[in-house]
Amino acid sequence: MEDFFRTCCNDQDYLDFLQELVNSDRIDGGAALGVTKMVIDGRCDELSQPQWNTFLKHVAELNYVDGCTRCATPIPWCEMLEALDNGGYCNYCVHKMEKGE
Ligand SMILES: [Zn+2]
Repeated sequence: MEDFFRTCCNDQDYLDFLQELVNSDRIDGGAALGVTKMVIDGRCDELSQPQWNTFLKHVAELNYVDGCTRCATPIPWCEMLEALDNGGYCNYCVHKMEKGE
């Protein structure tokens, strides 16, 4: 997963998602918040290995749904925050379930 998230750190959609996590106080203060802000600032290459581990363990892996629970489609970063709250479903499945399908 480390390589995956390193790639994500160069994806503006992922950085926007991280900013949303910060804005909604989903990241515990201190070290985790500090390294997350570095990543958002485009400084992920400057993270030491311990800082990177902190980011992975306390931020990246905690706030990631590996595919929709219902249809297994990868969740886009713009829907990830909702997926974390709704049990891991993509928007499409949420709409389907709301309609009782
Ligand atoms: Zn789905």
